[in-house]
Amino acid sequence: MRNQHAYSIKVYLRKGFIILFLSTMAPQFVPCFPSISLPMDIPTLEGHFRFEAIDHAARDFGNQYQFHPLAVLYPESVADIAKTIEYIWQMGPSSDLTVAARGCGHSLQGQAQTHRGIVIDMGSLRAQPMQVVHDGEFAPYVDVSGGEMWINILQETLKYGLAPKSWTDYLHLSIGGTLSNAGVSGQAFRHGPQISNVHQLEVVTGKGEILSCSEKQNAELFHSVLGGLGQFGIITRARISLERAPTRVKWIRVLYSEFDAFVGEQEHLISAKTTFDYIEGFVIINRTGLLNNWRSSFNPQDPVQAGQFSSEGKTLYCLEVAKYFKPEEADLAEQETKDLLLQLSYIPSTLFIAEVSYVDFLERVYISELKLRSKGLWEVPHPWLNLLIPKSKIHRFAKQVFGNILKNTSNGPILIYPVNREK
Ligand SMILES: Cc1cc2nc3c(=O)[nH]c(=O)nc-3n(C[C@H](O)[C@H](O)[C@H](O)COP(=O)(O)OP(=O)(O)OC[C@H]3O[C@@H](n4cnc5c(N)ncnc54)[C@H](O)[C@@H]3O)c2cc1C
Repeated sequence: MRNQHAYSIKVYLRKGFIILFLSTMAPQFVPCFPSISLPMDIPTLEGHFRFEAIDHAARDFGNQYQFHPLAVLYPESVADIAKTIEYIWQMGPSSDLTVAARGCGHSLQGQAQTHRGIVIDMGSLRAQPMQVVHDGEFAPYVDVSGGEMWINILQETLKYGLAPKSWTDYLHLSIGGTLSNAGVSGQAFRHGPQISNVHQLEVVTGKGEILSCSEKQNAELFHSVLGGLGQFGIITRARISLERAPTRVKWIRVLYSEFDAFVGEQEHLISAKTTFDYIEGFVIINRTGLLNNWRSSFNPQDPVQAGQFSSEGKTLYCLEVAKYFKPEEADLAEQETKDLLLQLSYIPSTLFIAEVSYVDFLERVYISELKLRSKGLWEVPHPWLNLLIPKSKIHRFAKQVFGNILKNTSNGPILIYPVNREK
């Protein structure tokens, strides 16, 4: 990995470590304004606009900003979106009317909102069928609507024994929402982020044209829209690359007391030829005493009761890895897991292994969501921060930040894992 600065999320992704600070804090709301009306000659659509009872479109997962729209469009077709955008385009530069696509609204800072503009509810297009193609001359893929959720794609493709290759930690997000960012998780070291696993897009441009784009066709549009933060067009359909789906997962967590060993072994694992299928990690700061609950969200059904481990108040680093397999590959997966663990220098008493289904593994954050919702702790402010740090700066960064600037992690996890530059 080279040590050079970069200025877009796609370029940053090729540089080093991804760090996510996940926390909570008091809300900070932007004042709302009384609504005004759209001009009366709005286009005739298959779907409809709604002007009232649309407060939900002024909220997101970050729960810190509220920008109240003038209207929400519930499209029934891609043509509805195209007509609406063409109409706004024709209003000319003197118009202040803005548009935001909204997938699942899990943004952090109002990115899917628009102040007195039009929010396009992409979920309305979910009724459009997904098409899994798996027996032609091409590698398997699925064609899906831009408003479709990743969890639904997983459920549909599993019917064919297939699944997307690259995920986010949480699947109740839309295709358009994650492809407008990047879509990074513990599989990105091997497959790249989700935006590297897209063959083709259908996009409604800022002028209201409906265009197909790919590496070969309208390539500039393709590369602008992927990771384009919703600023270069609206993704109405995407063709996502698939692979044979595993059915079972060995899910492993181990602790380190030294950052250098933790991060060195993460880097070793993402570079090794035979390695795990998912590699992440997180930081545990200033949790004094017994650390039994460091794995509490691991798997609620897991019967294993591992021994107790005392942190003595030190900052600890948890490596989280997973090995995927099918039942007939169980022995090989077992052997490869043992061999890989033998290469690592974690604190031996902290090894914790669970075996779960592939779906349960991918739905791990949703299981946490249900728990947090039951305690009223899901719809709270989330001032999350994502950083990409070059490899050359990661040790200095860790020394300054973990346990020095940050004094504890009780308000939310800090995820940290390396990604391969060439992916
Ligand atoms: C619990 C949780 C866990 C997460 N884990 C991860 C993770 O592991 N890895 C990761 O990379 N991210 C992760 N995220 C972040 C998530 O990927 C982004 O917030 C993503 O944008 C959310 O998708 P959404 O459908 O809710 O998007 P929205 O919030 O609806 O929209 C996000 C942005 O995309 C634009 N947009 C939405 N749909 C379209 C479209 N069809 N065409 C063009 N632009 C569009 C919006 O205008 C907005 O700018 C996580 C978020 C949450 C809440």
